[in-house]
Amino acid sequence: MQMQPKGSHFVNGAYIDDADGAAFDVVYPATGAVIARLHAATPAVIEAALAGAQAAQKDWARLKGVERGRILRRAADLIRARNHDLSVLETHDTGKPLSETLYVDPTSAADALEYFGGLAGALTGEHVPLGDNWGYTMRVPLGVCVGIGAWNYPIQIAAWKGAPALACGNAMVFKPSETTPLSALALAEILHEAGLPAGLYNVVQGMGEVGAALVTDPRVAKVSLTGSVPTGKRVYAAAAAGMKHVTMELGGKSPLIIFDDADLDSAVSGAILGNFYSSGQVCSNGTRVFVQRGLKEAFLHRLSARLQGARIGDPLDQATTFGPMVSARQLGIVEGYIAKGLAEGARLVAGGTRLNQPGYWITPTVFADVTDNMTIAREEIFGPVMCVLDFDSEDEAVTRANATEFGLSAGVFTRDLTRAHRVIAALEAGSCFINSYNDAPVELPFGGSKMSGVGRENSRAAIEHYSQMKSVFVRMGVCEAPF
Ligand code: NDP
Repeated sequence: MQMQPKGSHFVNGAYIDDADGAAFDVVYPATGAVIARLHAATPAVIEAALAGAQAAQKDWARLKGVERGRILRRAADLIRARNHDLSVLETHDTGKPLSETLYVDPTSAADALEYFGGLAGALTGEHVPLGDNWGYTMRVPLGVCVGIGAWNYPIQIAAWKGAPALACGNAMVFKPSETTPLSALALAEILHEAGLPAGLYNVVQGMGEVGAALVTDPRVAKVSLTGSVPTGKRVYAAAAAGMKHVTMELGGKSPLIIFDDADLDSAVSGAILGNFYSSGQVCSNGTRVFVQRGLKEAFLHRLSARLQGARIGDPLDQATTFGPMVSARQLGIVEGYIAKGLAEGARLVAGGTRLNQPGYWITPTVFADVTDNMTIAREEIFGPVMCVLDFDSEDEAVTRANATEFGLSAGVFTRDLTRAHRVIAALEAGSCFINSYNDAPVELPFGGSKMSGVGRENSRAAIEHYSQMKSVFVRMGVCEAPF
């Protein structure tokens, strides 16, 4: 099926193209078929996007918050009304099964637009009494913001950055991953259909160098990246040179600790959600599954049985629950880690098999007897590879769980809720779960600590990252000076 958009980029309220930009193909991961051909942004396209954003931002910021919010909420309604078609598009772009995209991808974009649309009218400052004088604060936008996305949740990432940016009165230039460039264009089109003035939400395509050109432009006040730690370091450094605000949503190697008093099926569900949803291509995944020794064999047994229920196949069939990897490159990376796991002595309990068919398919993979020093226990794989590690005591589990440079997420399964809160408090991670895994409601902050990033997306916390405070001192009497 062809998914060719009307143009590669969406700039100043319209699709545009520039055939001078390097051409790249968009591939349906389930079959390897080319579904669209786009061009990377040329300097002229980047200039048009940045100049348009800068020109449009001030008038947008002058609107009442409720007026900005109304447009965002209208866009949310349009997304919900078109959820099916948008989900089909996202499934073609990412390979994720429709059974996921229908419930998570466009809908979470709609949630963000609805939530921040609602908050837009409530972004106020404070009155500060100062004796005879007084002061007040104002929450003001940053200006032109740049968003750069990863390929695993394309429309969600585009909206998680765009919605708070626009609610606060900023303009945005968004660069999707070139692996999944389509749904951000659809979001831009819908925002403008909902009444967003031209220039406020632009989408430009391209590889890292397009992102780098955006990040280093002096007109840009803020950069929000979702991507890997190495890219995050580069983008953070480039932004620092221009003293720009940053949000970094980066990778992880998160622990999921299962105590032997846990509800077994619930814990297995958590491990499945935290490792195999979106074929494991989720930054917050709990890929180091620490299982207390008393539960280990029962856990592995139940997990293996439950994996038999995975429906691997046509992502457009709503009965399918497990799709392909996003690209040949990502499949190669995952296969490389599976080979390393075997070479370093981990015990393959399930999966690890590449399907002999077009597209980028690998079965859900579980390694047991994994030790902390193995490569598969230390590095982010970003694929459906679960590592099961044994532990004895709570202290040991917490110490080993924290022994990583990452700090994105953490989860705990236990019936002892006092212990659950104690363990979660001790884990060094930004987004945590008790008796659940990978829930990301827009009302809760999302983001990581340590090398997993800085800043938070979603919730009121995101407002802090797309606006700044301005304070005003007001003297009521005469202003005096010493000379
Ligand atoms: P990458 O880091 O490779 O790329 C992320 C984005 O940055 C892409 O759009 C990429 O463009 C762009 N980019 C690359 N180099 C530069 C540069 N020098 N300057 C500006 N932009 C640049 O990540 P992936 O796309 O491979 O995504 C997977 C990673 O994302 C994983 O590590 C995962 O953990 C992380 N992630 C984090 C999430 C979170 O919220 N914490 C959520 C989802 C994913 P291009 O790809 O076109 O080269």
